[in-house]
Amino acid sequence: MLADRIQQIGFSPTLRINAKAQAMKAEGIDVIDFSVGEPDFATPENIKEAGKKAIDENFTKYTPNSGIPELKEKIINRIKNDSGIQYEPDEIIVSSGAKNSLYNLCMAVLNKGEEVIIPAPYWVSYPHLVNLARGVPVIIPTREENGFKLSPKDLSRAINSNTKALMLNNPSNPTGAVYSREELEELADIAVDEGLIIFADEIYHKLTYNGFRFFSIASLGEKIKQQTVIINGVSKAYAMTGWRIGYAAGPKKIIAAMDKVQSHSTSNACSISQKASVEAFGGPQHEINKMLSEFQQRRNFMHYKLTQIPNVSCYKSQGAFYLFPNFSAYYDMAYEGNQIRNSHGLAYYLLKHAHVAIVPGDAFGADEFIRFSYATSMENIEQAMVRISDAMAQLAPVKKSSRKPLKNTVTKRKDFVETEANISLEMRDALVAESEAFMTYEGYYEWNVNIAGIIVQLRTNSPHLYDFWLENFYPAQLETDLEPHAIVYAVNWITGREPRAFYNPDSRTAFYFKSALYPQLRSLVLGMVIDISERLYDLHAIRAQSVDINGKGLLFIGSPGTGKMGQFAELLKQPNIKLHSNDVVFVRYIGTEALADTVERKLMISTNFVENFPQLVQLFDKSKCENVITSKDDCTNEKCKREDNCRLDRGAPYCFSGSKSSIALLDPYWLGGSEKHTKRTSIKWVVIFRKDPISPAIQKLKPEEAVKMLEEGRSQNSYGSMQSVPFFNQHLLIKSMDRIDLQKRYFQKLFNIAACYIINSGAESSDKMKDRISAIVAGDEEEALR
Ligand code: PMP
Repeated sequence: MLADRIQQIGFSPTLRINAKAQAMKAEGIDVIDFSVGEPDFATPENIKEAGKKAIDENFTKYTPNSGIPELKEKIINRIKNDSGIQYEPDEIIVSSGAKNSLYNLCMAVLNKGEEVIIPAPYWVSYPHLVNLARGVPVIIPTREENGFKLSPKDLSRAINSNTKALMLNNPSNPTGAVYSREELEELADIAVDEGLIIFADEIYHKLTYNGFRFFSIASLGEKIKQQTVIINGVSKAYAMTGWRIGYAAGPKKIIAAMDKVQSHSTSNACSISQKASVEAFGGPQHEINKMLSEFQQRRNFMHYKLTQIPNVSCYKSQGAFYLFPNFSAYYDMAYEGNQIRNSHGLAYYLLKHAHVAIVPGDAFGADEFIRFSYATSMENIEQAMVRISDAMAQLAPVKKSSRKPLKNTVTKRKDFVETEANISLEMRDALVAESEAFMTYEGYYEWNVNIAGIIVQLRTNSPHLYDFWLENFYPAQLETDLEPHAIVYAVNWITGREPRAFYNPDSRTAFYFKSALYPQLRSLVLGMVIDISERLYDLHAIRAQSVDINGKGLLFIGSPGTGKMGQFAELLKQPNIKLHSNDVVFVRYIGTEALADTVERKLMISTNFVENFPQLVQLFDKSKCENVITSKDDCTNEKCKREDNCRLDRGAPYCFSGSKSSIALLDPYWLGGSEKHTKRTSIKWVVIFRKDPISPAIQKLKPEEAVKMLEEGRSQNSYGSMQSVPFFNQHLLIKSMDRIDLQKRYFQKLFNIAACYIINSGAESSDKMKDRISAIVAGDEEEALR
């Protein structure tokens, strides 16, 4: 019913905490709210009067779309006074709040797939705004010890041919960091060189402390001004959040484009609020100073108190009205046996036990931290700080043994990139030179593994890929002068390249550029090993799930959506059945035997398999994972999405069924040692799965029929149309005629040894299918085919 884009955005977590706090208040609990993002002061009298006057004078009709000229003039003067930049009226647009200005800006400049660099911690709405405009948010973490500021080096490294813009929030929500002139100059130089647009969110520019001076990046020269769009408004400086007035100042072309977006969405901002804003920007400014000195006092006090809490560090912000302390030392602690685990857990704990509402840092892309707003009275702050200190003192360390070693990594790219499987040697040589030149730059990792007797060397600059590689495969015992059979370069951050994979069969070299997604590295390397081992060792790779029953092997082949994995899970629950492989087996035909081996140390498995096989939850807890959901906002599981009792809200570190792109590296022996796993089996049965409304429930296939069925490999793609994946094997890289023929010969051999059945999940219930499969492995073919 809903548009796809809605899947990518969540509700504001700030509002969620707020709702919980409100509910507690309604129950009569005295909750102190530090989660608010607006000044606790009233809008100054003179501004309110201007609003009332606008009503009395019937200034209540449509205005020019981009704002009334009088307001634009005051905005121009204000920017000139505050930042020393000169704008013309057609370089200004007034919108319904700064958030609305940002939305219009994203819609006006971003094309589908264009990247916007967002330093983290970031204001919660940035990634969602970019997603809504079909852009791609690229989150770059900053460090507490660097004052949470984006370094020029990190900025350079994040730029590629898809990069369109940099979101620069100065002063920052949530960290309160303010960039110095010199820091801005370095970023501006890079932006000018690379042609980046700067989205300069300066909504807190009036709120800086201890005389710290604010500079606008647009003030640093004509060139950078031409690439910058300043976003600002009345919300924070004039305590006018409800009036909904924001503005953008920037190059005429961009402003005109925003004007178009706005003309078909909100139209002009509220006429009355515009009049009030004329007074805000143009009238006396002394109320700001009063507010500022009050904020400064509160900040100092709160900062002092926070740093008195043992093991809490807190960067002393220079602006906005937030502090962003690091509480991660407490994530290993527990209250009455419940471990805190992360910023959501801490938020929950503080709300329940200290009656203080804060926002978990994860909402801003920095889970070690939590955000305190000091836009509340000194009295509240004093009281709350006592309550928080008490609550923290009640936490006790969790016993070391129960610590979870899960190393989840959320990769930026979650989809497979395209592979060019037959590149020329010249191209291979050029790519090697490019990769090696790039990888000397920083971190370089190399490791040989042995996959089905093929020694593959990984050369990468991605610690994440290296980490998974090491764990996934068996290490090769490589004597010094032994050359690897194959090399794979996995180069992330390489500038000026599209995310893409390549393979040259002659030199047995593969490349994987600009993606840290592990499953594709694995698949690429398996494809390479299949190609080489076919040629060298006459080994037949089959993409299948396999189990062993007293030394006899059963393979499941087919595409997703055919009920195959459900049946596989059912088999694994049975006591006498051992897991063999969940994805690929390498088969050697010897006499009348088809000996199938698994070649991986850990099995890569989609974590949402827990829906079929809940026992895996505890094992995944101990496994290395990628892209596991750690925040409700990232959940894409329609069934359980954002339910009120979501375990993530209560501090559970991850949910295994929230995403289709999450994987775990499972140690198959954890299922129950060698009683539940074997590395070798002798294949006796093959079951091919399909799902359609017309075919019979089960058929026994003759070898030729089975080979034909597999060669066609017809399956439904995610859009519902049919496609062909030869032998249902996504890993096959080389699909030339002679290779397809070779595969057919191998399968012919297999089906001379093993019986092959085709089962249709479109024809009967999964219980019936289960009975048939049980009959097959019990040797009762008559019952199976009945
Ligand atoms: N940018 C930042 C960094 C903010 O913190 C906020 C408000 N929380 C906004 C923009 C939005 O301001 P407005 O209320 O004008 O939409």
